[in-house]
Amino acid sequence: MISFEFTPEQEQFRRELRRFAATELAPRYIERAARAEYPWDAHKLLAELGVLGIGLPEKYGGTEREDPITLGLATETLAYGDLNVASAPVLVGLVAGQLAAHGREEVVAEYLPQLIAGQIVAAIAVTEPGVGSDAAGLATVARPVEGGWRISGEKIAITHATSAAIALVYARTPGCRGPSGISCYCVPLDAPGVTRGHLPGMGCLPLCWGTLAFDEVFVPDTHLVGAPGRGFAAAMEHFDFSRPALGLLCVGAARASIDEAAAWATQRMAFGRPLAAFQGVSFPLAEHQTKLEAARWLCYRALWLRSVGKPHTDVAAMGKWWPPQIALEAVQAAWVTHGNLGYSTELPLQQRYRDVAGYLVADGTAAIQKRIIASTMMGSAATQ
Ligand SMILES: Cc1cc2nc3c(=O)[nH]c(=O)nc-3n(C[C@H](O)[C@H](O)[C@H](O)COP(=O)(O)OP(=O)(O)OC[C@H]3O[C@@H](n4cnc5c(N)ncnc54)[C@H](O)[C@@H]3O)c2cc1C
Repeated sequence: MISFEFTPEQEQFRRELRRFAATELAPRYIERAARAEYPWDAHKLLAELGVLGIGLPEKYGGTEREDPITLGLATETLAYGDLNVASAPVLVGLVAGQLAAHGREEVVAEYLPQLIAGQIVAAIAVTEPGVGSDAAGLATVARPVEGGWRISGEKIAITHATSAAIALVYARTPGCRGPSGISCYCVPLDAPGVTRGHLPGMGCLPLCWGTLAFDEVFVPDTHLVGAPGRGFAAAMEHFDFSRPALGLLCVGAARASIDEAAAWATQRMAFGRPLAAFQGVSFPLAEHQTKLEAARWLCYRALWLRSVGKPHTDVAAMGKWWPPQIALEAVQAAWVTHGNLGYSTELPLQQRYRDVAGYLVADGTAAIQKRIIASTMMGSAATQ
């Protein structure tokens, strides 16, 4: 039997987060979004609400049971108020999930409690100036030395580059080609030889986007995450959870925008009638509402498949290419419905437009998601 209901606990959590998003996040979204500074005050409140420990080990402060649906629900609900702050459960989940599953006990014990308590944030560093979509071609090297490795290379477009305490850095053993030569290392970003830089983007400013350069950075043996040469495969497995969660992030922001447009359309008068009386205004909003509803359930289906241990790589990719795209279109329709006010920086619509746009590229573009879907349908013939 099919069910689209969340559990009573999830509904209760959602109500709590909805209140928080409306009272704490939404009123300061524009102000936070204008600064390239991580909003630690809001982040710590997320930790108090239990948002940062979803699915992570209980002994470090988490909820223990892997729970992708609750994480998606939290992300979507928070994004209604502030999509930059709302990315925290996904980003913490992406790094902490890999550490918890594959990290050495002493490293996990050091960093997981701090991540779950909202004391630190972490970056995930795959993209380089020379490779992004074709991540298996990355050039950063980890040279084996006595007691560990020395990492050299450059990463670009990294979320939390200037705010993170640690990064999961993907690097290859010198001389090894392709994905099987890549390992994952947990690198403290205050280590000698690390340089960070800020990259101004068109949105997502509070996520401290930037570059990380590694010049012979020493990483001890204990900081290898997973088996040597397994870093790439492990990261891809975790992207299967982050992709639909980021889809929900965009959907949450778009739903807020369409709700605002619907409210505006009922009060703004033109030609002697409310805007809502014109089908040229109400029908596009109805269409965006329909697409957002479809996108939303596509994302939850990917997360449900993950929660019951069924294959979901293709559905997760669907949840990343389509939702951000239709969310962006919905936000655009919402600001046009507001006329000149929609373009104004006094309303959140233009800001959401710029923030949602980042997710057309972050975590892989639509083309790369379609490549994943096509390869599930047609095998390697679709990726040659
Ligand atoms: C807001 C934001 C946050 C990010 N955060 C992180 C982060 O935390 N960590 C991290 O490692 N990276 C991060 N990135 C980087 C992101 O993952 C990459 O930008 C993305 O994977 C694309 O890589 P690229 O920019 O090198 O583009 P390229 O790979 O050069 O691609 C350029 C264009 O070519 C297209 N293309 C490439 N190959 C194909 C193909 N085979 N078929 C069809 N089209 C193709 C792409 O779709 C794209 O449109 C972030 C990016 C953004 C915008």
